Amino acid sequence: MSDILRIAVQKKGRLATDSNRLLDEAGLGFFRNPGALTCRARGLPVELLFVRDDDIPSLVAKGVCNLGIAGENVLREEALENPDTQELQTVRALGFSRCTLKLAAPKEGKIRTVSDLQGLKIATSYPQILGVYLKEKNIQAKCVTLKGAVEIAPALGLADAICDLVSSGATLAANGLCDFARVMKSEALLVRSNTRWSAAQETTLARLLRRIDGIIASRATKYIMLNAPKSAVDEITALLPGADAPTIMPLAGRDDQMAVHAVCREEIFWDTLEALEARGANAILVLPIEKMMG
Ligand code: ATP
Ligand code: ZN
Repeated sequence: MSDILRIAVQKKGRLATDSNRLLDEAGLGFFRNPGALTCRARGLPVELLFVRDDDIPSLVAKGVCNLGIAGENVLREEALENPDTQELQTVRALGFSRCTLKLAAPKEGKIRTVSDLQGLKIATSYPQILGVYLKEKNIQAKCVTLKGAVEIAPALGLADAICDLVSSGATLAANGLCDFARVMKSEALLVRSNTRWSAAQETTLARLLRRIDGIIASRATKYIMLNAPKSAVDEITALLPGADAPTIMPLAGRDDQMAVHAVCREEIFWDTLEALEARGANAILVLPIEKMMG
């Protein structure tokens, strides 16, 4: 049994950039030659395999790779089509490549709800997921499977509606479509095989997960620094989102002011900054946190 942990990631596409960034930030230290299909990391005993995202579930299910990063949409579609991949375990939800599988139809047309789809044709790259959804809703419709460019199917007369991934909705709008129902939400997941691993592979996964957890936590976390009038320190610290124990320090040469530093575990919106300022906070800085542990 190999001691190297093998991870399947998308070769090129919407998942690839964020997957590579995560693994890079986790200190894998890999340099990929353009065109290379595998790559050995320098920072941990890990090998990356670059493949099409649709192949990731079965490569991991077969044990060719220990781990894979794939969208929930692809994992679910594959699990419905190929029962071997139902055994995959989700190790972490990674918080990127968020999108929603939605039903959409021409803006000018008559389709406004799911029940309007009875007897019609729907173009999609996810026939299994769509099939289950339509069955639950008691709709009999024909799925037209297309691997890409699903949005143009109605204009080409190939289908009456589509079921496709949407993030901002700009592509739908650009094709004169309007969404009317949500089939599933998706984000990238780290999944592992159910096959036997060596102790060394388990140890590498534990190290990798600690790093990934640190990265996920630090992405949602900011460091805030500000100066506050002494009289308003309590009121101001109470406004800091998700800060447990702020550091409060005197400011050299300023008897009336204190410096407040805190780690905020929730997003800091402009409204919060305005509310802080309204209570006298000044010299407010919000900084990203690069790494976090413990
Ligand atoms: P491949 O060549 O690997 O088969 P693909 O064309 O199937 O690529 P991409 O378009 O790169 O795939 O999308 C990969 C995954 O990224 C999707 O399965 C989904 O999980 C996620 N994704 C898709 N569309 C979006 C989007 N608009 N915003 C964010 N993530 C998305
Ligand atoms: Zn794909």
